Amino acid sequence: MDNLSINGDSFIKIPTIKFKKLFINGGFVDSVSGKTFETVDPRTEEVITKIAEATKDDVDIAVKAAREAFDNGPWPRMPGAERAKIMVKWATLIEQNQEEIAALDTIDGGKLYSWCKTVDVPEAANILRYYAGAADKVHGEVFKTSRNLHMYTLMEPIGVVGHIIPWNFPTIMFFAKAAPCLAAGCTMVLKPAEQTPLSSLFFAHLAKEAGIPDGVLNVLPGFGSTAGAAITSHMDIDAVSFTGSTETGRRVMQAAALSNLKPVSLELGGKSPVLIFDDADVDKAVDLALFGILHNKGEICVAYSRVFVQEGIYDEFEKKVLEKAKNWVVGDPFDPKVQQGPQTSKAQFDKILSYIKHGKNEGATLLTGGKQVGNKGYYIEPTIFTNVKDDMLIAQDEIFGPVMALSKFKTIEEGIKKANNTKYGLAAGIVTKNLDIANTVSRSIRAGIIWINCYFAFDIDCPFGGYKMSGYGRDYGLEALHKYLQVKSVATPIYNSPW
Ligand code: NAD
Repeated sequence: MDNLSINGDSFIKIPTIKFKKLFINGGFVDSVSGKTFETVDPRTEEVITKIAEATKDDVDIAVKAAREAFDNGPWPRMPGAERAKIMVKWATLIEQNQEEIAALDTIDGGKLYSWCKTVDVPEAANILRYYAGAADKVHGEVFKTSRNLHMYTLMEPIGVVGHIIPWNFPTIMFFAKAAPCLAAGCTMVLKPAEQTPLSSLFFAHLAKEAGIPDGVLNVLPGFGSTAGAAITSHMDIDAVSFTGSTETGRRVMQAAALSNLKPVSLELGGKSPVLIFDDADVDKAVDLALFGILHNKGEICVAYSRVFVQEGIYDEFEKKVLEKAKNWVVGDPFDPKVQQGPQTSKAQFDKILSYIKHGKNEGATLLTGGKQVGNKGYYIEPTIFTNVKDDMLIAQDEIFGPVMALSKFKTIEEGIKKANNTKYGLAAGIVTKNLDIANTVSRSIRAGIIWINCYFAFDIDCPFGGYKMSGYGRDYGLEALHKYLQVKSVATPIYNSPW
């Protein structure tokens, strides 16, 4: 690892990239085609390294290995407690390599190093330990039937699972998919996003070290239209768990329907509202709203991208949010003073800037921001639009960047109506001290998670997922474990039952 120096200060070391090949059947291998693709550092726009590129042929080989591991290997057959031991060892290895993993996500995805190190990586270990704890507690039920039958259910692993994940949380997404799937006794093929393959390959290496048997976990970096599509349409994959955009989610469902009708779970996009009421502490509300849209440079499915402020405090809110946004620190995500790093890719950077241009054209007022920061790296100024009408594109489309659409509302009813005026339903926020308002509004907004006076409050124990076009199925909690299980009913006649 090389030392990193920013403005004369020495920071953590940039890791040498050790794993660049596909991970299939317990080993790192070149792709069948020999093709590679470049992964780029969004801080510098320079190529970090070339990664083996999976296509359909590689997916076929990986699925064959996962099938064999599922049909005949030890993983689904060993006691849950044995699987748990291996998963706990994996969690420990993740923690021992905390800095290297955090640095991989920072150079690959422009994420804040300190956040990755103190939140994402420890959370990955938590997720593994949580589902390890569930691995030996998978039970069916016994039924007292009205006939002379002894009936019970078995909870069986669903089989070979395909996972497809996005680039905004490469570490947490990997484990939110892999941990419940493996705890259930399934085997898997995972495709990381083409923008952020580095940490996933590192996790595969650690999985092997922890003792996950060959073929159980396969990691195939590659593109969506080739490797991703090969997974969703594969006849020998039994279920798909997908996180990504709503547009791609539709394709995933279509491919599943046109192949073997595999069940799919979809964690998709969002355009989450936060309603800030007159009784709120304005300074705290400003901090919450800004963190809600600028955290992870706005590349968060649950970002508070629509901020609705009640008219009594609107003017004060607008003045204060402008002040704070102007002082928000954008820069190298390794620098501990920095609050916002670069967007993950050139494509995302261009998309955000084009939405900003569109917002100006459709008549919204650009209160602050709107431009690139510096001239190297995909940095964008924290951007706030006011006078936003609900039907504008910047109020309806998921921008997935540091762009807030700010507007006001008068009554609770109007606030609820505005919050629900979206095809999405992933998350929503409420800022108020009034319990009646909080209770009424949280029951009235159609979204999978409601945050009252907070943002980004997750816990592995609590399920997370969308309403409406934000998808269905849940990650996290025991609900996620059940995505990877299926129920089998067994019946035996009982003759001469004493009761
Ligand atoms: P995306 O849909 O473009 O890509 C997601 C993944 O799908 C990538 O691995 C990509 O290679 C793959 N993919 C693309 N086309 C495919 C196809 N035809 N078949 C199979 N796989 C394909 O999304 P993105 O731009 O990488 O990620 C951002 C999106 O993800 C946003 O919409 C965001 O809201 C959403 N997201 C949702 C959640 C959630 O939990 N609901 C979490 C994070 C991100």
